[in-house]
Parts: sequence; structure tokens; C-alpha cells
Amino acid sequence: MNILVVGSIALDSVETPWGTAKDSPGGSALYFSSAASYFAPVNIVGVVGTDFDFKGIDFLRQRTVNFEGIDQQEGLTFRWGGRYHRDLNQRDTLFTHLNVFENFNPRIPESYRSSDFVFLANIDPDLQMQVLRQIARPKLVILDTMNFWITGKRNSLDEVIRQTDILILNDEEARLLTDTNNLISAGRIILERGPKYLIIKKGEHGAVLMHENSYFSAPAYPLEKVVDPTGAGDTFAGGFVGYIARTGKIDEPTMRKAIIYGSTIASFNVEDFSFRRLISLKGEELEGRVQDFSRIITY
Ligand code: AMP
Repeated sequence: MNILVVGSIALDSVETPWGTAKDSPGGSALYFSSAASYFAPVNIVGVVGTDFDFKGIDFLRQRTVNFEGIDQQEGLTFRWGGRYHRDLNQRDTLFTHLNVFENFNPRIPESYRSSDFVFLANIDPDLQMQVLRQIARPKLVILDTMNFWITGKRNSLDEVIRQTDILILNDEEARLLTDTNNLISAGRIILERGPKYLIIKKGEHGAVLMHENSYFSAPAYPLEKVVDPTGAGDTFAGGFVGYIARTGKIDEPTMRKAIIYGSTIASFNVEDFSFRRLISLKGEELEGRVQDFSRIITY
């Protein structure tokens, strides 16, 4: 089963206590694809400028990622710069140059329209709706968003949330969206607004899955060295959706395993800059860490 992802394609410049990387490929759509493509074919929709070098993402093409929906426009690619503190949970955005991304107008190629799973990465909710209007009803719609849209485009976001099967948020966003401090109460409120499943990410403290009356919690994989946390959320989502697409099953036991796969692949991603670690990651390394994970959470 295949996956459609619509999101940003960027050239990122990142500084962390372990070093720097300038103009490396990034953005939510590429991070997501570099994780999801381990499990299932991916169709990307995004925009790049004439300066974008496709050589940097050639590994994705080899893993059956379809680039037909990447629109190359006259101008420069979206650029984002960030600096992490010694506490890697703290990040300053140094610059956001939208460039061609400013007028991003997602058009879904005919060949993508029957994609089974749709991941709407964190973009303007009006654009997310535009995507949903262009596709046949998929098996699952998975949505990511952020504070900026929760406060700035609330009505549009509420409409997309109503059409979403699985909403992925971090703890702060869940509180903001519901104006509620207690996360369990916040989760309950969100599940009444449309999504059947809710995932709340808690950074280095893992993630929880809420569905009807059930609750599942997984820790983050215990890593001693995090080199670059950029894209952790999108690679988590890529591993999560990819695993579901590979199994083809949409039920809670599958979602629980998918959370473990998402967390595992995100843990590899943060071991190096950009998604370099995911280029070299072998299937057996991934499975080995998933086994470790099982040992960690079994008692
Ligand atoms: P995360 O670490 O999950 O916050 O994701 C970081 C990625 O988001 C980077 O690769 C950036 O290129 C991308 N990004 C940063 N700002 C934006 C934005 N305003 N819209 C879309 N993507 C962005």
C-alpha cells in the first residue's frame, strides 16, 4: 500500500553542540519520506527552486519514492536555519526564508490520487484541505500541525481535524488546542472532534496513543548521544505511517507496534545531521533496535 505526503522540502542550516551542517536537504516531506520509504512506496508533493540538487535525495528514488509531485519552480528553495542549545530541547530559529514555498499550491498528480494513506505534514490548514479535496477517500488521513496554525488559522484547522483519522501533536500543542492542562483530558476532548486516534509526542519522554477508552504509552529509545534533533517528529510519523502501510492493518495493536517503529527510526535519525543516518540504515539494524525496545518496555 502506498503513502502520499505533502509538506515542506528545505535546505536546512543547523548548528548543534556537535557541529554544523549547511544547506542540507530537509523539510517535513523529505524527513517523513526517508523514514516511511523503509516500509512502503511513497508519493511526495512539495516545491523546490532551481537551486535544489536532486542528487542529495537520490537514495529516496531508489527506495521507490515517487518525485512526480515535486514541483520545481523558478527561484530559490525554502531555507531554514536553527541553532540548538546544550539542552537539545531548546532551539532558536535563526532564519526562515520561504522563497518558492511561499506560494506553495499543492497539486496532486493523477497517479497519486488513489494513495491509500495520506500524511498531511505541518503546512497551512487551507492547503491541507486543498489536498483532501483532490484525492479519493484514502484508508487513513494522518495530520500534523503546530502552534502557529492552532492560534492563527483555527477554523480551517478544525475543519481539517474533522476529516482526520489520526492526529499527531506534541504535548504543548494538545494543551493549546483544547485550552486544557491535563493531557488525558485534552486527549479526550480532541477525540470528540473527529480523529479516531490521537498521538501525543512528549519528546525525550516518548509518545502516547489514545483511542476510545484505551491508552498506550511508549518511552523514547534511550540514546546517549543526540547529534541533531531536527526532523525527529517527521521521521517518527514516517516510521509510524510506513509500518501501518506495510501491514495494511488499521487496528490498535498495529498502531501500538507502529509507535515503536516510529520511535525507533526517529532515534536513528537524530544520530547524525540531516537524514544522513537513514541513508545508511540497514533493515537488520532497525529490527535489532525494535527488539531492544521490546525488552525495554516489557515487564
Ligand atoms: P522539526 O524538527 O520536526 O521541527 O522539523 C524541522 C523541519 O521543519 C526542518 O527540516 C525545516 O526545514 C522544516 N521547517 C521549518 N520551518 C518550517 C515552516 N514554517 N514550514 C514548513 N516546514 C518548516
